[in-house]
Amino acid sequence: MRLILLGAPGAGKGTVAKMLTKIDGSVQISTGDILRAAVKNGTDLGKKAKEFMDAGDLVPDELIMGIMKDRLREDDCKAGYLLDGFPRTIPQAEQLKVLLEEIGHKLDAVVNLNVPRDVILDRLTTRRTCTDCGAIYNVKSNPPKEEGKCDKCGGPVVQRDDETEEAISNRLDVYNEKTAPLADFYKGEGMLLDIEATSSDTVVDAIKGHVGI
Ligand code: ADP
Ligand code: ZN
Repeated sequence: MRLILLGAPGAGKGTVAKMLTKIDGSVQISTGDILRAAVKNGTDLGKKAKEFMDAGDLVPDELIMGIMKDRLREDDCKAGYLLDGFPRTIPQAEQLKVLLEEIGHKLDAVVNLNVPRDVILDRLTTRRTCTDCGAIYNVKSNPPKEEGKCDKCGGPVVQRDDETEEAISNRLDVYNEKTAPLADFYKGEGMLLDIEATSSDTVVDAIKGHVGI
């Protein structure tokens, strides 16, 4: 399947994407993960992106489109993909439309995960991430077995630089201003599937039903 997952930070896009990859072998493509890896490896892209990310601001559209133009042409995308955190702005959505036409891909749906703001805030302030493999934990509901150490790879499990209270509040404002309008954009394209996303299992079932798998 080929899907776009829309939703505020902490809405569960990553979790849902990971569950969906297990169903049909589609790959999860998270621009946030790609950028964090670039920052960690100190690449040119990482150097350009870091300041924006730490402040909770969006990375410029040109950088993101540069990444995605190559990424969507890679071999593993033939099995389908779940776009997690991309597109994030109307210009990105417009450029993605052109790109998909160029490479002859048709999307199955654009899934919008709706979660109340208080649930999001609570999830983000308690979220912890493995800096080596990207595994997600939660200090309250799903801590690693050994504090600060990833169950899967042994890497360090920490709070992301952009998960301070200030950066989180900025990310949510940026989301409302720049990304929330994408729901209407895709509604206009006849592709939107709106879901009340309090549990990831419900979301996955709704998507399966919609895509017909
Ligand atoms: P979130 O939990 O906020 O959805 P992500 O991991 O998707 O976090 O993204 C983290 C940061 O990476 C964003 O705050 C932003 O700075 C940058 N980023 C990720 N995807 C995009 C994108 N499509 N356009 C612009 N910036 C992006
Ligand atoms: Zn790990």
